[in-house]
Amino acid sequence: MKTIRNILNQSSFDHDDLVALLSAEGDDLQYLFDRAIETKQKYVGNAVYLRALIELSNFCKKNCYYCGIRAGNSSVSRYTVDEDAVIEAAVYADQHRYGSMVLQAGERSDKAYTEMVSKLLKQIMQVTNNRLGITLSLGEQSEETYRQWKEAGAKRYLLRIETSNRELYSKLHPADHSYDERLECIKTLQKLGYQVGTGVMIGMPFQSVSDLADDLLFFKQLNIDMIGMGPYIEHENTPLYIHKETLWSKEKRFEMSLKMVAILRLMMKDVNIAATTAMQTLHPQGRELAVKVGSNVIMPNLTPYQYRENYHLYQGKITVKDQPFDDQLDKLEASLNTVGAHIAFGQHGDSKHFTSKKEK
Ligand code: SAH
Ligand code: SF4
Repeated sequence: MKTIRNILNQSSFDHDDLVALLSAEGDDLQYLFDRAIETKQKYVGNAVYLRALIELSNFCKKNCYYCGIRAGNSSVSRYTVDEDAVIEAAVYADQHRYGSMVLQAGERSDKAYTEMVSKLLKQIMQVTNNRLGITLSLGEQSEETYRQWKEAGAKRYLLRIETSNRELYSKLHPADHSYDERLECIKTLQKLGYQVGTGVMIGMPFQSVSDLADDLLFFKQLNIDMIGMGPYIEHENTPLYIHKETLWSKEKRFEMSLKMVAILRLMMKDVNIAATTAMQTLHPQGRELAVKVGSNVIMPNLTPYQYRENYHLYQGKITVKDQPFDDQLDKLEASLNTVGAHIAFGQHGDSKHFTSKKEK
């Protein structure tokens, strides 16, 4: 039988190798992390790129069984951030040299909304003199909408597949939510020339280690540029909550998320990997530990305070309590220094994987 060291000496991993790596413990796990740290140093270095996150709206027409802001949760008070406040946040991010921003929201695709987003994008580009790199995470849209948003200034798009297992996907979503359509959206975004990010949740009900191994292979097969993944965290007003007793412990979900980040860094050496809020929610040093073993992107929350508690995707979401904006970055820089990393201020931080693909 292959040892973890044997596997880590290979140049690529198959499904069984990945299951073994995801199951590593003790010294083996430390060895795996050490190898990921080395690979990270060599290919992407110690710089961490920032994305100022604006949770633009919690209106959503979908009903994903895991998500706290699903349409069916009538206890959510719905908001859309005032357009002026978005522009103000963009100016703030630019002045504080975040380099990039992300607009994320529940899913809406009516014309009034898609046009508002286009308008916002153009305004942000204008007031920041085209300095900010803009990422969108606004769900499934038509090719035409994706094209319009790109023309208005968006450069990157995040659309998590959530799980690469179709059968599991159908257990986590109502019947009218389609895995194939989501996958098609990812491919359309690639075709349109976006830098494309996807990702999965880790430790969901019914999900196995074998599914997670397949997720890693899926990212590689799709030749994805950016990955954002994090632990699944239950929310009391969602259909999946009844399965909470069957979940892995929060410690295990966090550790599995770290393993996923580290193994992905070994498999896709030059992609951007986010240290996600969900990881920080389950562990006070979650972001720093993720950065240590492979992540190179952090998304500090710049959503105006009055809206934050309503973007409640899962229990205990950490940024609801984040520090006031002005000392957020000083604290982040100091904590990143403890793991040998630093903030790359004022840079777009494009995925090297994307830029080198384009040069080929
Ligand atoms: N509506 C868009 C973007 C906002 S939701 C979309 O769905 O693509 C952003 C991400 O939050 C989702 O992709 C999902 O992976 C994550 N999320 C939702 N509910 C969660 C939960 N209970 N635990 C952890 N992550 C969750
Ligand atoms: Fe809506 Fe996204 Fe939540 Fe699904 S995960 S319910 S699409 S906000």
